[in-house]
Amino acid sequence: MKKIIPLTAAILFVTACNDSGSETASGNGQDSIWGYSSTGRNLVEIQTSNGQTIKAVDIDGIAHVGDMMLGRTEDLLQHGLTVAENQDQPTAQEKSISRAATIYPSSGFKWPDGIVPFALNSNLSSAARADALSAISYWNTNTNVKFIERTNEADYLLITNGNGCSSYVGKIGGAQAVTLAYNCGMAAAIHELGHAVGFEHEQTRSDRDNYVSIYWDNIQSGMEYNFEKINTSNRHDVGNYDYYSIMHYHAWAFSKNDQPTILPKQDDVDLYTMGMVSEMSAGDLAAVAAIYGDPGNGNDNSGDNDNDNSGDPDQNQGEQYSGQLSGSRATNIQPNGNWFQYQGGTLSATLSGPDNADFDLYLQQWNGRSWVNVAISESYSSSEAISYEAAAGYYQFVVLSYNGSGSYTFTLKR
Ligand SMILES: [Zn+2]
Repeated sequence: MKKIIPLTAAILFVTACNDSGSETASGNGQDSIWGYSSTGRNLVEIQTSNGQTIKAVDIDGIAHVGDMMLGRTEDLLQHGLTVAENQDQPTAQEKSISRAATIYPSSGFKWPDGIVPFALNSNLSSAARADALSAISYWNTNTNVKFIERTNEADYLLITNGNGCSSYVGKIGGAQAVTLAYNCGMAAAIHELGHAVGFEHEQTRSDRDNYVSIYWDNIQSGMEYNFEKINTSNRHDVGNYDYYSIMHYHAWAFSKNDQPTILPKQDDVDLYTMGMVSEMSAGDLAAVAAIYGDPGNGNDNSGDNDNDNSGDPDQNQGEQYSGQLSGSRATNIQPNGNWFQYQGGTLSATLSGPDNADFDLYLQQWNGRSWVNVAISESYSSSEAISYEAAAGYYQFVVLSYNGSGSYTFTLKR
């Protein structure tokens, strides 16, 4: 039996902070879960434009729910929280996702074309600056959201030093803060950027009671409001409930007694993975793709992979990509460093590599936890071919330099 190690470490991992000492960063050191206690503070009830009530804690005039900032408390109390009217109904693509995660932008709004300008405040610690840049690189590599350094854009993220790790949800307009303390870490930075592009916590989904149990008696006093469910009349639960979403809390989040606060109802969920992942799950990536388009395919959302909105993929020649591998046992992911979602059908790919080398080609499918080989081409040359009858799911190709170095051409028909 595994020991409950992460929690003890988590409880000790309290941020240095200002007044009452009730701010908590708990986690395994990779995924900090952070929030203000409502004890001794003003717990406000904010009405949303769709008739919901959200509980939040006022901190210096800003309404917070855990690590999410909703906006100026005074404005919210007076005018309520406006939710995006044009995002009411899930799109067909969102509904079609078989396994995905997180919640569609609610109080927040989508960033146009997925472009998110950012600026790094000079007050950031060197560690937080590195975490921010790593997280930005991660998002830019793995999703169609593109964080760009701000020049003169009016709406942007100001990544700044703070007591903990926090962010607004979605684009709220103007300079909006993302706070990163020195000890947030890269995973928390990825998580906060997830809020900034519009995602909320997985375990607040409206359907969460089918998947997890909340142990209210184990939650620190004043932290209960972090576990409120969010009704979905204006929010979207994209895809299936995803225990391994980077937007999911871990089992001991805000525990007062080392006992779990959230436990999965399914037996096969790994408690030491839930809420402790350091990367986005395939479900997270699919949810982002549903909203911001597929990586490498622009934002046309036509599903034809050719970025021209025609709906017709070019069936004749396939898509061509080039790459280079230096040294033996190096790998590339194709197409273009990205996985892709596939509706099902034949996937064909060829590799044409350097003459004096032995390159191999693998087709991998995401099984919910990891990438597994489903088709392999390992000839003694660098000419490889795969044709595979694929079920709907998430796929990527891996090019391996078994022996030698050089440039190759990868051709894909899907
Ligand atoms: Zn969060």
